[in-house]
Amino acid sequence: MSASPLPIDDVLPALLAALSAHPAAVLIAPTGAGKTTRVPPALLAAGVGDGKRIVMLEPRRIAARAAARRMAEEGGWALGREVGYQVRFERKAGPDTKILVVTEGILVTLLQADPFLEDVGVVVFDELHERNLQTDLSLAMARRVQREVRPDLKLLAMSATLDPGPVAAFLGDCPTIESRGRLHPVDVLYLERPDDRPLPGQIAAGVRRVLAATPGDVLAFLPGVGEIQRSAEALSGLAAEQDLAVLPLYGDLPAERQDEVLRPLSRRKVVLATNVAETSITIDGVTAVVDSGLVRRLRFDPATGLDRLELGRVSRASADQRAGRAGRQAPGVCLRLWPAWEHAALPERETPEIARVDLTGPALQLLSWGERDLAAFGWFEAPDPAALESAARLLAQLGATDSHGVTALGRTLARLPVHPRIGRLLAEGHRLGHGREAALLAALLAERDPFPRAPRREGPLRSSRSDLLDRLDALKSFERRDFADETRLNPGAARFVLRARDQLAEIARRELGGSGAGADREDALLRALLAAYPDRLARRREPRSSR
Ligand code: ADP
Ligand code: MG
Repeated sequence: MSASPLPIDDVLPALLAALSAHPAAVLIAPTGAGKTTRVPPALLAAGVGDGKRIVMLEPRRIAARAAARRMAEEGGWALGREVGYQVRFERKAGPDTKILVVTEGILVTLLQADPFLEDVGVVVFDELHERNLQTDLSLAMARRVQREVRPDLKLLAMSATLDPGPVAAFLGDCPTIESRGRLHPVDVLYLERPDDRPLPGQIAAGVRRVLAATPGDVLAFLPGVGEIQRSAEALSGLAAEQDLAVLPLYGDLPAERQDEVLRPLSRRKVVLATNVAETSITIDGVTAVVDSGLVRRLRFDPATGLDRLELGRVSRASADQRAGRAGRQAPGVCLRLWPAWEHAALPERETPEIARVDLTGPALQLLSWGERDLAAFGWFEAPDPAALESAARLLAQLGATDSHGVTALGRTLARLPVHPRIGRLLAEGHRLGHGREAALLAALLAERDPFPRAPRREGPLRSSRSDLLDRLDALKSFERRDFADETRLNPGAARFVLRARDQLAEIARRELGGSGAGADREDALLRALLAAYPDRLARRREPRSSR
């Protein structure tokens, strides 16, 4: 299949030349230029990396899958053979896979299994501007491998918007290749005054307004799936009236429905997307953007001791990226659902994940990889020393480390694709013969809470010695009744938690070996919970007091 020309084609020769002369390079090109889908096949064709595997780290699952599918389609390859992907809980790749797209902790896991990356010729870090924790971490790990044992390993950092200086310096003052591309002008509109209607109504009104202002398709940015669904409902009247195709786009959308969003249609499209459409996925034909100004991002949640998605305002840099999506192919318009005078108060840019999330998982990964001194590790951007210290303290409390370094338990926890606390909970539940229920408890803690905030402590829900076990029972009865509507919990989130339970239970069976004899259920689960939260254990000093 012959591929149509893309802006990136013009700079590919310079990129290939840079990588044959240097061990690393930085590539800056606007969203939609062709970085993700064209660069790995070009590296492969040119023999960069001596015919060894090319691994590309992509921060988002949906983009990893879409990129692998697109490369297979353009190269006339079979997905899962020459080109494949591996994301958490899903792998479509084999021994012949020459281009492997991975997400999240997968590259770190590959580094654990094969510390020198013997089979890998090139590692590509895509979307570096997102400053995803796993990207930061694996960039630093790969750089260390390159410096110390694999001078032949090629590293390539790619981004749409990054200032290339710091990363080029980090990669040994490597060359930077830029493709400026041409962005058409985008007319940015603001609200006259804040709109206090619910978001779906604002989106519908905004879409109506921009439809009249441009001829192309509309892309609306929303913070999550719930808002997308409610906005789609709010748009149903307008869609019928103007014959529009209203299409959702978010991380967990099935592949066929993703393809539908990317294919040209005869009707005008209104795509309702999370920030996957900000720089990771390009939709052709968009000339109008409606920006809610909201985003969900990971942040450390002291209530669970884990990271959780939190709703917040976007940064100005993000809002500019979102607006840019309207001007890729023609002049466009972007409506921001906030007043102009509020804009200056938004933060200039996003805080990198490494500065705002929990570091226990990365710390364990580094220690079990053989790193002795976390503070002295060659970070791309060093985290707060206090955050590293508290990560190290928690690892010791969990039994993952002792005075000699990482323990056998710690190595097991490092293999599990979950936070070490959650891994400890799974391991303890498994040991006590209640692995599957411990997996449900783990999923409940780690995933979005399906229960409304602040459950009444003494309400009708209460049936055991622990509020968490009460929730467990409610979820199980929801499952037994075949997901019949349940007013106490959010059915979508509950199904998600139950699916995560199945995946975690499967991983625990695979990684943890034979399970122990069945101890008393409630006792076993409470013990597993305590094992996961050793830092939260307290003893009541006097009966009925809170001391
Ligand atoms: P970048 O990574 O630089 O943002 P991509 O390589 O993702 O760019 O995409 C380059 C172009 O290829 C896009 O502008 C789009 O036109 C097209 N494209 C990429 N993936 C798909 C797909 N799955 N379906 C249709 N078009 C696609
Ligand atoms: Mg890309």
